[in-house]
Amino acid sequence: MNGKKAKSGQRPPVPKSPPAGKFWGLEELDGVPLPDERGHFGIYGGRYVPEMLAPALEELTESYFRWRARPEFQRELEKLWETYSCRPTPLYFAENLTRHLGGAKIYLKQEGLGATGAHKINHCLGQALLASKMGKKRLICETGAGQHGLATATVAARFGLPCTVYMGAVDMRRQATNVFWMRQLGATVVSVEEGTRTLKDAVNAAMKDWMWNVAETYFLLGSALGPHPYPAMVRDFQSVVGREVRAQLEKAEGRLPDAVIACVGGGSNSIGIFNEFLAEPQVELVGVEAGGRSLKPGEHAARFEGGRLGVVEGYKSYFLQDDDGQIQKTHSISAGLDYAGIGPQLAWLRDQGRVRFVSASDHEVIAAFQLLARQEGILSALEASHAIAYAMRYAPELPADKIVVVNLSGRGDKDIFILAEALKDPDWKAYCKDYAEGKIR
Ligand SMILES: *Cc1c(COP(=O)(O)O)cnc(C)c1O
Repeated sequence: MNGKKAKSGQRPPVPKSPPAGKFWGLEELDGVPLPDERGHFGIYGGRYVPEMLAPALEELTESYFRWRARPEFQRELEKLWETYSCRPTPLYFAENLTRHLGGAKIYLKQEGLGATGAHKINHCLGQALLASKMGKKRLICETGAGQHGLATATVAARFGLPCTVYMGAVDMRRQATNVFWMRQLGATVVSVEEGTRTLKDAVNAAMKDWMWNVAETYFLLGSALGPHPYPAMVRDFQSVVGREVRAQLEKAEGRLPDAVIACVGGGSNSIGIFNEFLAEPQVELVGVEAGGRSLKPGEHAARFEGGRLGVVEGYKSYFLQDDDGQIQKTHSISAGLDYAGIGPQLAWLRDQGRVRFVSASDHEVIAAFQLLARQEGILSALEASHAIAYAMRYAPELPADKIVVVNLSGRGDKDIFILAEALKDPDWKAYCKDYAEGKIR
């Protein structure tokens, strides 16, 4: 179809790129500040922390807004993104997949091609640069599956800062490969033995460390959540993704996308690609949550399928919780989406009807992974495969002159163990066994 210069008036005019120098996330939508000065997105967000941490968050907020306004900070960060990571990442027209599905044109934003293989590097480089500007001497973080720990260990090495990663003992066992890489990168991985020995215990341990070592320590958060200013700051650093998509699609198609689809764990890759289009009502924004094995409690991580308002880990948002308000067990085939809470801005955008939320099941996700591998030769992370799974449902419903952009937040190499198990690959199992027994060298 050649509809680029359609005069029919059916298609809205191509909006101009944002003014030069606009480097950060949208600060206001329909008169609502994003966020207000106390970190609220409507009723969500805010800062609910022990009194001892309030000054640290105040210092961080003040420093962040001061540094981000400086052109030299922006230039340094852009240079890091370009030369250390891989920005701009390509926006790829998935022609085979489009033909196979029949319907809207599908473009893939290839965040998996950046350093460490996922979008996390964007906000980790931003925060590490800020930490160094603030004169902090060490980085700490919490990690569940280890992907955030890995990205933090990576930037710690790059900035020459010692790094302590808190990780639940159970998670360390489950994610031994990430622990191995973190240690190779020079990080100290602390095994947390309290509670259920998983993510929330790691968060508590990292918080304690921060309270006692606040003067020299930067707490590097892994998604667009937590107490103010983290949700806004992480969104700002990730907003580069959507900015690039707008420019790249304008070049390729001369217009805006009709829909943008992204998977949603804590919310950093989704708000990163959505931000640019929030004020363009003709662009539909869709967040895909982890539907897991089923939508029964404990079998998924879809916060909008049974979650409730709560305050956890320093912010107010939707959380999957039991009747006593305790955080519920969650499940997802993808470690990065296996989380009970969701970033406050996304919860607010859902209330506004600006972002539509759907979920994809583990089964659909594996099918999506396989389809993308066969059709396009791209091995996508299981997290990102959630977005593909929904595109598989949605694109065929749309006419061929529509354009859908999918954020491929990461690449799939890391998921080999989970995938081989899920696909019941007999050779892989035999290989692991023989390798462990020393039969293969
Ligand atoms: C961590 C991760 C996610 C989920 O985190 P968000 O903050 O929701 O983006 C998604 N995709 C990949 C590849 C990840 O590593």
